[in-house]
Amino acid sequence: MNKAVFIDKDGTLVKNVPYNIDPARMMVEPGAVEALTLLQQNDYLIVVVSNQGGIAKGYFTEKDLMKANSHLAGMLAEEGVFVDAFYYCPHHPDGIIADYATKCSCRKPAPGMLLRAAQELQIDLSESWMIGDILDDVEAGHRAGCKSILYDVGNETEWVLDRFRNPDHKITNLLKAADIICQLNYNKVLEHEPAPESV
Ligand SMILES: [Mg+2]
Ligand SMILES: [Zn+2]
Repeated sequence: MNKAVFIDKDGTLVKNVPYNIDPARMMVEPGAVEALTLLQQNDYLIVVVSNQGGIAKGYFTEKDLMKANSHLAGMLAEEGVFVDAFYYCPHHPDGIIADYATKCSCRKPAPGMLLRAAQELQIDLSESWMIGDILDDVEAGHRAGCKSILYDVGNETEWVLDRFRNPDHKITNLLKAADIICQLNYNKVLEHEPAPESV
């Protein structure tokens, strides 16, 4: 079984530009490359899970989104970070494109994308984490059985809390998130480092 870090895209992995699919306006968040590098070194799959209601709303197509995602994958690959999979939810209950204008089980806070990834990539969800910038990400992670980290940089504005929406950790720097995740797997980290001085 694999373990994974599920990461939200807009506002977490890249700067929050609402409904953006223009590669030129896509900027990787500070610390993201370093964080993903560390997670990758510690054998976590990197799985991007993203709500893309703009498709249901007719702002852009799935094809446009694929292009944006592959651009992002390319930017990260240049830095040595390899995204294992991109999942997205194209639906929105208030959409205008009939095929997508539906309540679904994949739009976060529902856990559908994580559950599907777990099946397709043999992921042990109890060993996995969700990182996102709003509590809907946290809830999706918890509903899937993962631990969660809120990237708390002001994008959550409503703070409706319940037992699913209480993050295990809050951080303002993505590298800190990777530190937290890898510390919990400390033996693995030590394998790559000199043995500590004995006392
Ligand atoms: Mg987000
Ligand atoms: Zn959906």
